Amino acid sequence: MGRVRHKRTHHARRDVHRASRTRARVKDLDQIQDDLRPENRAKLETQPLDEDKPGLGQHYCLECSRYCETEVALKAHLKSKVHKRRLRELKQPAYTVEESQQAAGLGVDKRQRGVEEVVRRMEETGVKDAEQMAISAQSTM
Ligand SMILES: [Zn+2]
Repeated sequence: MGRVRHKRTHHARRDVHRASRTRARVKDLDQIQDDLRPENRAKLETQPLDEDKPGLGQHYCLECSRYCETEVALKAHLKSKVHKRRLRELKQPAYTVEESQQAAGLGVDKRQRGVEEVVRRMEETGVKDAEQMAISAQSTM
């Protein structure tokens, strides 16, 4: 008898799907920093009634890009720990891709870093002797 093939490869791994659901997806910090600019802020704070959003989209926390069901809930949220932590995070400059990868534990290995270094230098000094730098970077690794 051959091997029994398991049909349910992802048994009990609901969280994987939950994480990728659109509803769970919030804006990134740099997008929110964009929202906080006065011209965008006014627009987001006065949204039209929207049945698809919690509380019809009327109680929106700009900093957390999150809708509350009621005015009371929004006020409670504004005093909450999550919100205050978010305010602190927003005061810092926007993340770069590299930083966010490091934060997520996706460290860049030596080889990749070498390449990035070359690219950075290429941008600084022009493409003139980029090829030579790429070769020298490879030989030092
Ligand atoms: Zn908030």
